[in-house]
Amino acid sequence: MGLIVQKFGGTSVGDMERIKNAALRVIEEKNRGNDVVVVVSAMGKTTDGLVDLAYQASAKPSKREMDMLLTTGEQITISLLTMVLLESGYNAVSMTGWQAGIETEDIHGNARITNINSDRVQQNLRDNRIVVVAGFQGMAESREITTLGRGGSDTTAVALAAALNADRCDIYTDVNGVYTSDPRYVKNARKLSSVAYDEMLELANLGAGVLHPRAVEFAKNHGVPLVVRSSMEKQEGTMIEEEVSMETGLIVRGVAFEEEIIRMTVIGLENEITGLSSIFTTLAKNHINVDIIIQSKTETGSINLSFSIKRESLEDAVEVLQNNRGQLGFSSIEHESGLAKVSIVGSGMISNPGVAAQMFEALANNQIPIKMVSTSEIKVSAVVDEAKMLKAAEVLHTEFNLDKAQEPQKVSAK
Ligand code: ADP
Ligand code: ASP
Ligand code: MG
Repeated sequence: MGLIVQKFGGTSVGDMERIKNAALRVIEEKNRGNDVVVVVSAMGKTTDGLVDLAYQASAKPSKREMDMLLTTGEQITISLLTMVLLESGYNAVSMTGWQAGIETEDIHGNARITNINSDRVQQNLRDNRIVVVAGFQGMAESREITTLGRGGSDTTAVALAAALNADRCDIYTDVNGVYTSDPRYVKNARKLSSVAYDEMLELANLGAGVLHPRAVEFAKNHGVPLVVRSSMEKQEGTMIEEEVSMETGLIVRGVAFEEEIIRMTVIGLENEITGLSSIFTTLAKNHINVDIIIQSKTETGSINLSFSIKRESLEDAVEVLQNNRGQLGFSSIEHESGLAKVSIVGSGMISNPGVAAQMFEALANNQIPIKMVSTSEIKVSAVVDEAKMLKAAEVLHTEFNLDKAQEPQKVSAK
């Protein structure tokens, strides 16, 4: 007998019929003789609806009250799913994040899980109950209710799987697995049978919304076997694991993209030595994530610093920089919106020079100007105009043969 953690996303519990379908998946696993912990998201687009309401209440809703509001979404689903399980004759109990011992940092809107006190979940499992936990929520030491960031239910599931030493964590969603790119937008995207943790981590961080990045981080750090699969169709999903045996030899495994990228430029930084560190320390202290950074020296000797951030951080970034302007020592800030980031990811890149060059050439051949670039051992990202994002993704998907499964890819030596 094993222990399986199952997670059902918003679409998979979007209405009563789907909740009943999810319950059948839970019951199947229980009937196989396993203990089952279920993590659920809010129904359908409930969270979006609640965010909308918040902005009707206030132009800048209090982050604390936002968490208070958003955590209600998941609580609807846990109780309904548990009612269906009880009605079907199975012993089950619902739990909020705090009842399940999900402890987090004391930050609203995007808290990290710091610890899981799983005693109560384990006691219920020993009492032969199916435990249904609300995803996306936790509690800080101060006893404040927190949320884990949009898409964070995945992280609740994987973190619980790690804490409970589960045999597997199954992420049930509205696609059959992890694809070479978002199948909703890239028509020839192909399902992958397996992906390495590191590749999945990059893909998730670079915009492949199928998994929350911190969920992949937890899975990697704790060696949790993770499967992404459909809640509607009975098909094999995608295994996310340390070593990927299938389709080795592929240089690029996937294309990810993300819209609403902002390029901020801090103009006229006076101190070349400390300017960079003081700007980024200030932003980091205020939990503003900065991605691509470009520093350039002007003719007068001062420094201009460009960096990319997500749209949601814009107001906070401007406010923080303006408030610290005197101490940071710059003359002005500008920002450019309407940008997007398109990335290629694959562990085969490490040993294959020329991949970035091939990417830039493919984009250039398709009249897609590149505004900023960043690379790591297993990814290359380019910031482009938002209007060209999907075209860029299609171009790169074809360029690196991602629509054709087994053929080894050639990279032109530049
Ligand atoms: P859930 O509500 O189940 O958490 P999400 O909407 O968060 O579902 O994630 C599933 C969606 O992720 C898919 O519908 C798909 O459009 C999107 N997606 C983005 N990139 C990928 C990818 N590489 N593979 C599969 N799905 C992807
Ligand atoms: N309900 C939350 C969201 O929509 C968390 C999740 O679904 O994972 O972002
Ligand atoms: Mg999700």
